Amino acid sequence: MPKCNFYSLLEARVAAHASGVFIELETGEIYTAEWLDHLCGRYANALRLLGYAAGDRVAVQVEKSAHAFAIYLACLRAGLCYMPINIAYRSVELAYLLTDAQPALLLRELNAEALPDEAVPRTTKLLSFGIEGEGTFASLAEGLDTSFQTVEVAEAAPAALLYTSGTTGRPKGALISHGALSYTAQTLSKLWGFSSLDVLLHTLPIFHSHGLFISFNVALASGARLFLQSKFDAARVLAAIARSTVFMGVPTYYHRLIASPSLEPHVCRNMRLFISGSAPLSVSMHRDFEARTGHRILERYGLTEAMILCSNPLNGQRRAGSVGLPLPRVDLRIAGEQGEALCSGRIGMIEARGPALFSSYLNEQAPGEFTADGFFRTGDTGRLDEDGYLWITGRAKDLIISGGYNVYPAEIEAVIDEMPSVKEAAVVGAPHADFGECVVAFVIPADTRLPPSPDDVIQRVKQHLANYKVPKQVIVMDDFPRNAMGKVLKKELRIALADRSE
Ligand code: AMP
Repeated sequence: MPKCNFYSLLEARVAAHASGVFIELETGEIYTAEWLDHLCGRYANALRLLGYAAGDRVAVQVEKSAHAFAIYLACLRAGLCYMPINIAYRSVELAYLLTDAQPALLLRELNAEALPDEAVPRTTKLLSFGIEGEGTFASLAEGLDTSFQTVEVAEAAPAALLYTSGTTGRPKGALISHGALSYTAQTLSKLWGFSSLDVLLHTLPIFHSHGLFISFNVALASGARLFLQSKFDAARVLAAIARSTVFMGVPTYYHRLIASPSLEPHVCRNMRLFISGSAPLSVSMHRDFEARTGHRILERYGLTEAMILCSNPLNGQRRAGSVGLPLPRVDLRIAGEQGEALCSGRIGMIEARGPALFSSYLNEQAPGEFTADGFFRTGDTGRLDEDGYLWITGRAKDLIISGGYNVYPAEIEAVIDEMPSVKEAAVVGAPHADFGECVVAFVIPADTRLPPSPDDVIQRVKQHLANYKVPKQVIVMDDFPRNAMGKVLKKELRIALADRSE
């Protein structure tokens, strides 16, 4: 069987240059490829000791660190399925994911918020995992052998399970194969001209495809060095950028960099590439960034279920406002209302097929997101121009992207609807200068004489959901605009909101 385990990319890197620095922290600490390989071996032995076998899932909700990358790769090496969880998720969000995924093991920070018993399935073992690798998992791994025979897996074997909320607000677990991870890492590494001379400034979270399967994996595959920052902070980025060659971010990061007076061409003197994705980058931001730095941002388009579908070229024309050309071996088409393929220039649903596509959703046999001929319906709308560049024009799905994070209104509506003082809630996205979009909640009170205060609603969401899902504004109404079927017309709520802000 060919070497299909994604882990073989780290083995190749160790074989090429074991003592080469792979990860560098802001504190100056450095970690070599060999260090990572040995730690992965030890962790993989600990996972085996726990009795886990191929296909078992390991859920991980931990802070970003060099050790967190080791547990990710150790799971893959042992043939287990890695399930990263947003560090901001509260117990209600976690309970749903754990019940759906039934992981064999859950690793959490040492000081993580306590979980109610019913949030963790009976068959899930809970261990702690700190940023230095300390905690109950580390105690178990201590002293174990650092060598481990990487488990042979098929290309289609699941390497990771990544949750993406469905349009109904019920999160769906996308199973991502070893083959899809390898294809993406190797293709992007080549397409974006990565080499061992690169230093990738890494500020993205690592529970999302962008920070883990794109940024980290591309650096791993290309021999590049990662300069790791725990999170994005414009001042810290600008302090580190002179020693970096590539940066990957979401539009909110670029907005904040542009807002800093320290963003000047000389601080970017060693940079060769700025990449943006996960949310639309406005043409004005593209232009402002170029005016300030001399660099044209390379915008690309992807989603959890398909990693990356399109990218502007490294050497060809980078078109502001377009997400670029389909990746090699990716079939992309624009479909009309009846599913028919539309010619260039016409706007329709974006559908794609290719090696980076997820295999299936967990616990769902025949998802409606696939066409009969195997194309994935992305839920985004767009058009292809005559040169094959994709221009995203909108989203058919009811999705808000705030600071690069996906927010599904139905999830927030469900939390607000449970308030006794609320009859019904409707959540929409509103333009926001920094986050791109922000959450706004409309509510109909159960009793018009005793409406909930905006603060009550905000506190309720804060208690149950991650901070980026908390509404920035709450508007109480007597009723919502509705269609003949009684469905809330969110478009009209958005118009009402725009009128109010004017
Ligand atoms: P996620 O699954 O979190 O990666 O989010 C995927 C969604 O983000 C896509 O379906 C798009 O709606 C949006 N998205 C990602 N990249 C871009 C981009 N470059 N421009 C516009 N929207 C984007």
